[in-house]
Amino acid sequence: MTIVNADMRRSRSYAAPATPDWKTRSVCRGSEMTDDFFSTVRSHKERARALCVGCPVIVECLNNQRQSDDVIYRWGVGGGLDPEQRRALELEELLGNVPNLAMAKVLVSPRWLYRLRQLKAGCRSLEGIAAVLRKDGLLVDVVTVRVAVWWSGGQGSRMARLGPGDRRSWRAQLRDDYADVIVALHERGARRADIAAYLGIPGTNGAKGVSDVLKAVAASGLELAA
Ligand code: SF4
Repeated sequence: MTIVNADMRRSRSYAAPATPDWKTRSVCRGSEMTDDFFSTVRSHKERARALCVGCPVIVECLNNQRQSDDVIYRWGVGGGLDPEQRRALELEELLGNVPNLAMAKVLVSPRWLYRLRQLKAGCRSLEGIAAVLRKDGLLVDVVTVRVAVWWSGGQGSRMARLGPGDRRSWRAQLRDDYADVIVALHERGARRADIAAYLGIPGTNGAKGVSDVLKAVAASGLELAA
């Protein structure tokens, strides 16, 4: 999938450039778990991602994957994310959302991980987690929280969990709450399936839901804020 061209990917920086020797400090170097990084089995991928979270060069690795044109970086776990999560991160970039990976690493450090897990369980959205963390004194944006949630083994879905008493279907929620995001990503060239996965509803149904929203917006002639 090519949704972001190489120039655009290089135009943004997640962190300071890595020193050339960062790969020598990776925990997967020479690891017997290499197969897990390219496995299609969920539990194997989770094992690989767990190894990444303890890796001292996770930030450099994710930056490298993001900026590389090498097709191998389109496959397998790397930088603590699986390919679907990295694609979702590319869509975040299309919307101008660039994570602070150093801060995401702080969020999965022993000092903050328990708090992050508490908030994952208690908050309905990534926005909610970010808001509470800001009250805790940690200045984080939503996309940085999303990366930290992924690194901590969470889903990191962009769609909020519905509140008590809200009985809307996910399709209605998509139409009511996410039409502007869907239109913005569509206008920037993202595929329907990738938009659905970005929002947290992967699969054929998700892509169909996104198509339905786009059709409804086109039929209504509404211009949504991008
Ligand atoms: S973050 Fe993961 S893939 Fe990257 S160097 Fe570390 S262990 Fe290997």
